[in-house]
Amino acid sequence: MHAAVVGAGISGIAASAVLVSKGWSVTLLEQEKGPNQRLSFAPGLLQGRAVALLRSLAPEPGVPFEASFSSRLQNRRFLKNLRYFANKANKNNSITESFFKFSCNILKSMLDRFGVEDERIDGLWVLLGEAEERRLSEPPEGVDVLSRLEALEREPALSEEVPFSAALFMPDAGSSNGTFLSRQLLEQLLAAEGGRFSFRPGSRVAEILQKSGRVAGVRLEKGGELPCDALVLANARGAAELLKPLGLELPAAGLTGVTFTAEVQNAECLPASSIALPSSPFVLCRTDSRIRACGRFFLGAQTEKEKKAECNRLYDSVLGSLLNIRLVPESIRFWSGEVDALPDGLPAAGTTRALEGLALSVAHADGGLSGAWGAAAICGAALSGGSAGSPAAEALQKACSPDRFAN
Ligand SMILES: Cc1cc2nc3c(=O)[nH]c(=O)nc-3n(C[C@H](O)[C@H](O)[C@H](O)COP(=O)(O)OP(=O)(O)OC[C@H]3O[C@@H](n4cnc5c(N)ncnc54)[C@H](O)[C@@H]3O)c2cc1C
Repeated sequence: MHAAVVGAGISGIAASAVLVSKGWSVTLLEQEKGPNQRLSFAPGLLQGRAVALLRSLAPEPGVPFEASFSSRLQNRRFLKNLRYFANKANKNNSITESFFKFSCNILKSMLDRFGVEDERIDGLWVLLGEAEERRLSEPPEGVDVLSRLEALEREPALSEEVPFSAALFMPDAGSSNGTFLSRQLLEQLLAAEGGRFSFRPGSRVAEILQKSGRVAGVRLEKGGELPCDALVLANARGAAELLKPLGLELPAAGLTGVTFTAEVQNAECLPASSIALPSSPFVLCRTDSRIRACGRFFLGAQTEKEKKAECNRLYDSVLGSLLNIRLVPESIRFWSGEVDALPDGLPAAGTTRALEGLALSVAHADGGLSGAWGAAAICGAALSGGSAGSPAAEALQKACSPDRFAN
């Protein structure tokens, strides 16, 4: 059986790895010249449960974002669906947590299978202001609550000036370079599974071909067709135009976020774990000798001026809060991207009633580097016709169904 996967970001690479491991032969199609050129170029690092924990501290379910009057007007369908989840925050948080946990396990099994090293940095600090402390009714499982003093003693990057009243520490939340990992995995797939896996960069998919109500292949923009028995759309915002002729329109909205990475001059003050300061707000992770900071997400596209303003704010709040860190000015690199988010913050993952043999792994919002693996496993199970593996995995399959907003 042959599957085509559209999009060589982390979602498409993860979907390819899962399908190959289930015995499919796979062609991965990408419009750019190489992998990870769009959203998965994000120097994003936060993994799994860390994303779920941070979301659970926000006042609303789903991904926290800022919105202007005009962006609200332009995203009415998304906001209408968001209101539906307003009183379901607890349920939504627990599904989100299970989804990211599940995704972490799949990532681990794929890395083991393909012999890829995850240079993961363990642990996440969440520094709480009084508002977040009030909002947190009880700490999630596996999370320690520490006083301000204990946190300052344990984390070398924190200075006495950092404004927080208590801290959460999640030892098993990790950060690693998702983009780097997926690129390595792609190389392994090509080397080890070359007979059953091929990667075709420079191939933009223009149309889904169907026959008797099921997927028959794809038409490429440059000309030519690729027949297939199953198709996974893992092409982020590009999926909407391919889905339109099928009548499937997700209530997604674009959220724009910015990050910066920088070398640290005083390596002894590199954070030992990731640090989130929801009141500022920012999340700081580290790779070997660099840090990466991620700021707020904004509803809709942002002008260059607005993105620059957020970059400046992010830079000032990181340096203003973690005074122990000194950055190498010429090493600072800003980056921004617009992710698609669904109102409940979960991706659209799995098969759809719109067309037999078609699966989606899109709308990963701020958590795609972590959630791509769970979404890939859901697609793999649904297309292979087997069970999802356990009642919990079946519940996730339902929670992430691309058809869940249909009524
Ligand atoms: C500022 C910021 C910080 C983030 N931080 C984190 C983090 O800490 N942790 C985390 O888990 N996530 C994070 N994310 C989210 C993460 O970056 C995304 O969710 C993830 O990269 C999405 O991957 P993807 O493969 O779905 O999309 P992409 O990487 O965009 O891949 C889609 C691919 O499809 C291709 N494509 C599109 N249309 C077509 C077509 N018709 N034919 C062929 N190819 C096509 C595109 O060229 C692209 O390569 C962050 C995002 C931002 C913006």
